[in-house]
This record gives sequence, structure tokens and C-alpha cells, in this order.
Amino acid sequence: MQRILIVEDNKALAKLISLKMQAELNFEIDIAYTLQEAKLFIKKYTYFLALLDLNLPDAPNGEIVDYALENSIRPIVLSGIVNKAIRKQLMQKDIIDYIHKDGIESIEYIISTIMRLYQNQQYKVLVVDDSMLFRHKMQKLIQNMFFQVYTVAHGEEALGMLHTHPDIKIIITDHFMPVMDGLELTKEIRKTYSKNDLGIIAISSNQDEEITALFLKNGANDYLYKPFSKEEFTCRLNNTIEALENIEKITNHANRDFLTGVYNRRYFYANSEEYFQEAKERGENFGIAMIDIDNFKNINDTYGHDAGDKVIVTLSQILTTSVDAKDIVARFGGEEFCIVLKDMPQNAIKEKCEFIRKKVTKTSIKIHDTLLTFTVSIGVASSPEDTLEESINTADMYLYNAKNSGKNRVVSS
Ligand code: GH3
Ligand code: MG
Ligand code: MG
Repeated sequence: MQRILIVEDNKALAKLISLKMQAELNFEIDIAYTLQEAKLFIKKYTYFLALLDLNLPDAPNGEIVDYALENSIRPIVLSGIVNKAIRKQLMQKDIIDYIHKDGIESIEYIISTIMRLYQNQQYKVLVVDDSMLFRHKMQKLIQNMFFQVYTVAHGEEALGMLHTHPDIKIIITDHFMPVMDGLELTKEIRKTYSKNDLGIIAISSNQDEEITALFLKNGANDYLYKPFSKEEFTCRLNNTIEALENIEKITNHANRDFLTGVYNRRYFYANSEEYFQEAKERGENFGIAMIDIDNFKNINDTYGHDAGDKVIVTLSQILTTSVDAKDIVARFGGEEFCIVLKDMPQNAIKEKCEFIRKKVTKTSIKIHDTLLTFTVSIGVASSPEDTLEESINTADMYLYNAKNSGKNRVVSS
């Protein structure tokens, strides 16, 4: 588990922050009351970040901040007073943020900041700017927000980078650049990536309103004027990522099954129909398998409905970890799942289903003091029929055969 260090001489406050953090975050927390104690902790552990009080008994002038930075620890600074001078002085250092200690809200702010940073680690951000100075400046800022950062010098390089890293989540682009400018880049990206999948923040030193309007009309999510403050940059970037996350949550809500998180039946049909047509055109073979838990009613009756839910979730995990990322796993209802195994020859499809069946038999689930095991029956249409509906019906018919011939088996075309 990753660790957070709190250095704060107000013991009551340090304990309060630590308690709140333990309730809401999954981190190991260490508390030091002096610079001396903090040094011992820093020698011993590596930290995700540190919350540092500017004024400590043995370090009254923020010495702890420099000490942390020298030891590659990213600090969030806590200060009793925040005025213009302190703020300016702090923002010159490579701190993540500073927080004014003025009540319970500031603790909430600390926690939401840490959650944000923790989430940011999974996202890739691409900086596109022909000025090396700005590139480096932004790279540093973005790294301080815990994002993974890539930098390039113009639009064409950006497209190349996006091609190698299609999961880049945000692009921050300058406007005036050689080869391909920011506006052209934005237009080009929007041909393949929607505003909801990839965020674009445009940066311009041009105070021309037309440019920002053009950027927004062509699909930029937000814009910034150079020169910008570190705080404004941080806030805009966080806002953009939060908006993307919210959209993703809403989409997931509509497309995914609540219990297991895999796709629901509605999404399955929409997505598979599209794939079905494409695969047919390409002459690509694929399989559809219907998977149903055997004697599930018994499991519910013997161990209870919650145990039954656990079995369903476990099966969904076995399915998602057994298939490729490009394949589709969906819960059709109750204890019945359907998977699409894309671009696969018939024998490999049968082997994959047999692998899944065996994996299920080897899996046990702890319910109180007992270990519960279960089995599944699988019906497989190992090559596509004329329509998606017919292929699903075929798989369903084989599933029915599997059930009738003794369960815990794979029957396929
Ligand atoms: P078979 O081996 O022939 O598949 O029999 P079965 O008992 O597995 O199938 P049956 O269709 O007779 O029973 C399925 C049960 O699953 C009935 C229903 O109450 C239960 N069920 C449906 N959805 C859920 C769910 O989300 N959670 C739990 N725990 N049970 C569910
Ligand atoms: Mg430029
Ligand atoms: Mg069943």
C-alpha cells in the first residue's frame, strides 16, 4: 500500500486529518510532529505525497518543504496564513498545491485533492508545443499532478504519438506551431476521437477571441491564454479530466450491468450487431458462447442470495480475464452470460470455452466458513450464422443440449 506522510505540529489537527484520510482513502499514513521526526520517516519510506506544515517548532520557515523536495517527495503545503507573498513564494517551488488551514472544509479539500491525484496516475496527457521552454514547464506541472506525460513539438508529431498511444486522455496544444498548428490538429483528432473520449485544451498567446472561438467550435474542450498561472493550469486540467470521468460514468451506467460491471444485454446487441456486419464483410470467423451457471437455484437456496451474487460476480471476472480485451462479455440476465470471441478460428473458440469451463471448476469462493464451488454449461456457435440473432439462437440451443446431457460441459457447432 502506498504511504502518505503528514508533518504537522498541531497534534489534534494531524490526528484529525489522519483519521479522515483513513476513513476515505486507501493509504498507509505516518505522522511526524517535527522536521527531525519527518527526516526519520523520509529516510525509511517512500511516499506518494506529503502534507507539510510550513511552521514547525524546529523548522519555522518552511524548511520541511525544501527537505521533502530534495528527497523527491511531492508536497501539499498546509499553512495557517496565506497571503499574496506566501502564495507567490510557495508557487515558485515545485509543490502540488497549498492549503489554507481554516476549518473542516480544508480537510475535505485535502482528501479530494489526494483522490484526484491518485486517479490521475492512470491517465496519459500529451503536450504539443513548439517552444521547448513551455513544453518543459508544462511537463513539470503535469507530472506534479501525477499524470503520465508525453511531449511533442507540433501537430503532426502529436498525431503520431496518438497513434502509438491511442489511450491518451488529454491533449494540451499550443496554437502557432510549424508543420501543423493547433487548430488543424484539433480538427484532425475530432475525425476519430469525440469530445467525450479525448479532451483537448488549447493554449494561445494570441488574445484574439476568434481563435478561442474557433478552437471551441472545432471541438476543443477548453482553452488557456499564455502566460497562465500554475494554479489556473492545474484547475483547468482537473476540470477537464473530471468532466471526462463524469461522462464515462453516465455512459457506463447505461451500458453496463450494475452487479458485475460487464456490459448489459442492450449494449451487447448494439455493439455485436456492428461487429457482426464488419466481420462478415472481412470474412473473419468469430464465436458466440452462452454461459449459464448450473443448479444456481440450489446455490441461492443453500447459501443465500448474497452468496449467489458473489458467484455471479466471480463468473463475470473469470470471463473477462479469460478473453481478449477486444472481445465482448455481457450479462444477459440472472446467471446467464454471453461472450463474443472475435477473430478466432473454430477450434480455438472451442478450446477457449473449454478453458473457461475448467477454470470455473477450479475456482472456489469463500462464504463464511465454507468454500463453495460451482460449474457452468456452455453452448457455442463457433462460426457466424446469417444473422446475429440466429447465431445467438444456435448458441442457446447448444446450451440447452449441454444442460440436458448432464451439465458442466461445452457443446458447440
Ligand atoms: P440450470 O442448472 O438448469 O441452469 O438451473 P438453475 O437453477 O441454474 O436455473 P434456474 O433458471 O432454475 O434458476 C436461476 C435462479 O437464479 C432463479 C433466480 O431466483 C436466480 N437469480 C436470478 N438473478 C439473480 C441475481 O442477480 N442474484 C441471485 N443471487 N440470484 C439470481
Ligand atoms: Mg508556438
Ligand atoms: Mg442456471
